[in-house]
Amino acid sequence: MFCGASGGCAHITVQIRYNNGAPRGPMRFVLWKPPTHTPYVKEVAWLLSVCLESKFRSIVFSRARQTAERILRFARQNMPPDNAGAVTAYRGGYLARERRAIEEGLFNGNLKGVVSTNALELGIDVGDLEVCIIAGFPGTIASTWQQAGRVGRKNKESLAIYIGVETPLDQHFIRNTRALFSSPSERALVDPANPYLLLGHALCAAHELPVTPGDFALWDDIFQDLLVLLEEDGDIIHSGGSYYYNGQIYPAEKVNIRSGPSEPVKLRDTGKSNRLLEILDGNSALSQVYPGAVYMHQGETYVVKDLDLEKESAFLEQQDTGYFTMCGRDKSTEILSTDREKILNGHRLYTGQLRVRTKVTGYVKKDEQSGQVIGGGKLDLPEQVLETTGMWIVFDQAVAETAKRFGLQLMGGLHAAEHASIGLLPLFAMCDRNDLGGLSTVEHKQTLGPTVFIHDTCHGGVGFGERAYDEAEDLFDATLEAIQSCECAAGCPACIHSPKCSNFNRPLDKEGAVMLLHLLLGREYAPGDTELGNKGLDKAIRERLKNFLK
Ligand SMILES: [Zn+2]
Ligand SMILES: [Zn+2]
Repeated sequence: MFCGASGGCAHITVQIRYNNGAPRGPMRFVLWKPPTHTPYVKEVAWLLSVCLESKFRSIVFSRARQTAERILRFARQNMPPDNAGAVTAYRGGYLARERRAIEEGLFNGNLKGVVSTNALELGIDVGDLEVCIIAGFPGTIASTWQQAGRVGRKNKESLAIYIGVETPLDQHFIRNTRALFSSPSERALVDPANPYLLLGHALCAAHELPVTPGDFALWDDIFQDLLVLLEEDGDIIHSGGSYYYNGQIYPAEKVNIRSGPSEPVKLRDTGKSNRLLEILDGNSALSQVYPGAVYMHQGETYVVKDLDLEKESAFLEQQDTGYFTMCGRDKSTEILSTDREKILNGHRLYTGQLRVRTKVTGYVKKDEQSGQVIGGGKLDLPEQVLETTGMWIVFDQAVAETAKRFGLQLMGGLHAAEHASIGLLPLFAMCDRNDLGGLSTVEHKQTLGPTVFIHDTCHGGVGFGERAYDEAEDLFDATLEAIQSCECAAGCPACIHSPKCSNFNRPLDKEGAVMLLHLLLGREYAPGDTELGNKGLDKAIRERLKNFLK
């Protein structure tokens, strides 16, 4: 449909037929690699505006809420002003009445385009759409196809465009296209003993049907303890051996609130008599609506004037800033207990319970167009404490010597290896990069050695970090491949940068990570020993795509 329309993008087209019995036309699935030096959000926004201009009703799926807002903002800038209202954003946090209005607009065709998070992946009828743009791997292959399947009904031809974003995971799929089209073997991880999750499930279960002693065997032992807690709180009544729901609201609405310790924060628009703009989960408030933060709503930029945690409110003023903000954090990880341990080529690997302390200490302003840092500020906000599960690697002390011998930076190497392996872990555990956190240090005060932590970001943990422990060799092998095959000189978002790094991606040493991963995998390390030289990657991609298309 658009071949030749873009500025030098590599893409392939594959014709897909869904075999689920529903009547639908053929779909073209395009893999799209944005030109280097163009931020993918701009490329996606441009593609969306081209689709809308060509009168194709379109949906964009973005991985993050604020990214969806930025795509919308850029798309509107590309469009004639009187058309800009025909495209909107849709995501969690919007008030129910705003979401209902958007759903109606999509269903009746008044809206021509929408930029959404995975909130529109399932359930809601989005009407007759023709183009789906998937802006980065959504976390699972099943999700990818779910998103693509939202367009093209009633025997009409449709188009899905998968944007290979500059992340290790997306680059992995661009290199290994076949993996994207193979049947998914993804296992969802849910830890049935996580008390934070179980509390919500207990409420929902009691709401559906009274919980009887016969049900206890289905749950972890702590389930009964939680029922007692809920009874004390008055959410559940215990009578005749069974437990009955006694809450006032539909309990599923409470589940998210109970999965973390903080209450949701109300975002208020100071320009409109503090009218409620949206609701943000309490755990995200400190890193998203700190004083000075730029927060986007329906493509408009707001500056946070005040965050009042006691009133559970943040006060925002609409301003056309021309920049966005990112916060920096101080972080420390304490080992509470060790569950499992093993040795991998002389390096020690563990799983266990961790306490992660984070404190937002400042932020930077980045120019909206160029991404350049143009200012910032310091912040003094309360510390957040997360108790969760994770894995950690304690490298043999000899790595410090090796790093010195080759003139590599140990700290930068550990940090880079941490970022890249977190970037690829969703291949092995069914999760999103945002479900994972990490920390690296040249000497941890408990392990007394160079240590990399990979942990869950959900309270209580669900086992993503443990999956990294179980699949350690394959994970670090894939990580090494991702770093070595990246053509950049000293690290980039496609290999070792992290979009949510607490330290603004400093320090990082790409070659240091290559060295550490060699040693971790028990391989001989020689400097500059990259498997794919310059241009090699393109050749490799072409080769794989050619094989795939045969
Ligand atoms: Zn790179
Ligand atoms: Zn980092």
